[in-house]
Amino acid sequence: MDALLVTALPNVRYLSGFTGSNAAILLTPREATLFTDPRYTIQSAQECDCRVTITKNHLLPAVESAISRRKLKRIGIERDRLTFQAYDFLREKLPLGVEITPITAAVETLRMVKSPEEITRIRRSVNTNSKAFTAALTRLRPGMSENDLAAELDFQMRRHGAEGSAFETIVASGARAALPHARPTRNRIEPDQLLLIDMGATQDGYASDMTRTVFVGSAKSEWKRRYRAVLEAQLAAIAAIRAGVAAGKPDREARRVLAAHGLDKEFTHSTGHGLGLEIHEPPRIGKKETTILQAGMAITVEPGIYLKDKGGIRIEDTVLVTESGCEILTPTTKDLTVF
Ligand code: ZN
Ligand code: ZN
Repeated sequence: MDALLVTALPNVRYLSGFTGSNAAILLTPREATLFTDPRYTIQSAQECDCRVTITKNHLLPAVESAISRRKLKRIGIERDRLTFQAYDFLREKLPLGVEITPITAAVETLRMVKSPEEITRIRRSVNTNSKAFTAALTRLRPGMSENDLAAELDFQMRRHGAEGSAFETIVASGARAALPHARPTRNRIEPDQLLLIDMGATQDGYASDMTRTVFVGSAKSEWKRRYRAVLEAQLAAIAAIRAGVAAGKPDREARRVLAAHGLDKEFTHSTGHGLGLEIHEPPRIGKKETTILQAGMAITVEPGIYLKDKGGIRIEDTVLVTESGCEILTPTTKDLTVF
């Protein structure tokens, strides 16, 4: 490859430090050039130490002329990030003889193992997220709507130092907890119900991710039993994590435990995912994944069960893979909690 064209903004940020909303990087073995627009003239000079080209119009014509001028022949593009429109433009405008080669997850692969600086940021994000959870739940009252609680959680994230939430906060009460990705609604949180909260902060650019399922008023014994089963599955998955193990292993451990409780059919998603500059990053922690876990990867562990029209339970922590195991970064208790 003579050059790699990086257009995914999290990858641009990872490579250059640039945090703006419109940019691309042309990376050759010798140098990197960041392309952005005049809104970011000052900011790009502050954040990047690579060459910066400010262009008044769209970025791609400037990228195209840089490629032509430097007589670059083989250009890698980010296969699952570049839009079809941009691909079409490059194919049409680049001089004859220039070859465009789609590349999968080149920068994402680099991003899987976090640097000490990145780990510090993820720790901070995780702690902020947990503080926000504790602060918001002191305001939980029966009759409060899911929307109100979600707003309180988001507010507390910012108050405790986050830029915002890493994804739309999930608050699902009662039977709605059976929807793994429920949007909060105007539904009221009533006594003697389950309450599933999945939340994550973005702080210094880095995501955190945590799910807790708590009980409001009281907990029925069948749900207590199910809660203990999911917690056992989550702990078994965590116990299977260490450097050198395939990413499929923790997932299979979680399923094995749930199967022993007759609940594996209710576990309908994978056990976890990497996180960092984005909330979902490689590696995926799923049954058939063969990626080998390495020290410095930050991943989530989040088995869950979902019973239609009844409710659901998920327990999720953010953990850091180490040589001998993993460190659970999330400080929030997983003891069965009744509010
Ligand atoms: Zn989550
Ligand atoms: Zn997650």
